[in-house]
Amino acid sequence: MPYSPKHSGAMAQGTSGQYGDFELVFPCSKGGFCYYTGDNQQRDTRWMNQLCEGKGNITGIAMIQGNYGTMGNLEVVAVKGKDLVHYWREDTGERKWHGPFLITSGVQGVPSIVQAGAGVFANFEVVVPRRGGGLLYLQRDNSRNGGFAWSQPQQFGVGNISGCSLLRPNVGSLRGSLEVVAIHSGHLVHYKREAGSTLWEYATTFGNGISGSPAFIQASVGSKTMFEIVAPLASGGLVHFRRLHNSRNSLWTQVATFGEGKYSAVSLVQHNDREGKMDVVAVKKKGADHYICGPEPDYEWTGPFELPSLARVRLHVKVLWTSTLYALSPEIAVLIARDMFLNIGIHIEVLSIENLNLPDLMVLDLMTPSGNYCKESYVSEEMEQLYEHRNNVGDDEIVAYFVDATIPALGGCATYPRNKPGFVVSGSDSGSAISYIILHELGHVLGLNHTKKTDRLMNDDLNNVNLNQDVMISGMELSKMLRSRYVTKPCC
Ligand SMILES: [Zn+2]
Repeated sequence: MPYSPKHSGAMAQGTSGQYGDFELVFPCSKGGFCYYTGDNQQRDTRWMNQLCEGKGNITGIAMIQGNYGTMGNLEVVAVKGKDLVHYWREDTGERKWHGPFLITSGVQGVPSIVQAGAGVFANFEVVVPRRGGGLLYLQRDNSRNGGFAWSQPQQFGVGNISGCSLLRPNVGSLRGSLEVVAIHSGHLVHYKREAGSTLWEYATTFGNGISGSPAFIQASVGSKTMFEIVAPLASGGLVHFRRLHNSRNSLWTQVATFGEGKYSAVSLVQHNDREGKMDVVAVKKKGADHYICGPEPDYEWTGPFELPSLARVRLHVKVLWTSTLYALSPEIAVLIARDMFLNIGIHIEVLSIENLNLPDLMVLDLMTPSGNYCKESYVSEEMEQLYEHRNNVGDDEIVAYFVDATIPALGGCATYPRNKPGFVVSGSDSGSAISYIILHELGHVLGLNHTKKTDRLMNDDLNNVNLNQDVMISGMELSKMLRSRYVTKPCC
């Protein structure tokens, strides 16, 4: 999705997922930045921390989903020490992050980026607070012959500024202008540059007791197109300002204060759907909070909802299973299993889904010559053959193999050859409980044994389990899984 004036800060609503998933970055208290995705479901957002990226003291960060790549690469600018740097992330394949690439030096606080001007690949435009006072405006020439060169910084504004938000409206009389709101001495200062001009002008000052970097968007869902600003307050929580877009002289009106907690910066997104609801993520000293604004006429803010800090397991799915007897495809079953484990604080990151054409192993014989199967280290010859198929899976990553059936008939099996962690799920014996069986077998790979307690994930008889309730594991089982070599501790 190219830059839309409906988002500002370090959060973007991308094009993946039915409801447009969120992509989010914010500075990590341990250095570098945290990268989250928010899986937008019909009513809520499932946040998942993906990784920590980069190093060093990042004080401020901003992101858009640009229009390079197939879906749109993520483009990030960050203030790292005294430098302004650029990172970007591939939108397909391994989704690798690249950077940091130095843009300029002598900056501070929180920057802002848009990609909204003319041309197929419109330029990136960035505003960032300058050490020594005022702001710097830069753009990267993304035209065919531009060579991706960053312009010399243009200085404007005065005073010690700690954060800013840049907007390029695409409606009304302000179409094509550049608008910046920055924080200075507890107030918000609005600067503007008319379309076609290179001259920055002071517009107005408003707000009191502002303590962190604002987010500034053009909202276009609802009865009127408005400019919206959300900013942190020194007294805690956030303040929401609004202004009609179509009059140069309309005033900023304080609409609400909401929330609690000390925040350093905010991101603001207006949803493409959900009746124009808005989402805010506010950055704390450690971690971040999510707030949601309901539709007009009430525009009621709810929150804070703290972003979870999740441990991670990396899973690859390989499918031999062709049965159409069951309601759930392996892909959907894995996603349901993932959501069930999010509730206990573990994110199953699904890295790949591959179909394997192995007709001889579709009905997988688990029996070893000694007559033992699926316990301790008993791995049958056919299992050895199947687990050979790892195909670019990392050492500490787990493979789930979906077969048609097993001999003898089991729902799944979690023994695996040395250094090839994985498990088998059987289509014919798992039926609608398939998501539950995925988690049961994964539990084994992460070090869990069976329990005699009924109603628990690791009970070996599905008849003892109520499949309509949340996954039941004990605190001891959870801490054992978190100690597994296949589990990565949360870094954000
Ligand atoms: Zn078991």
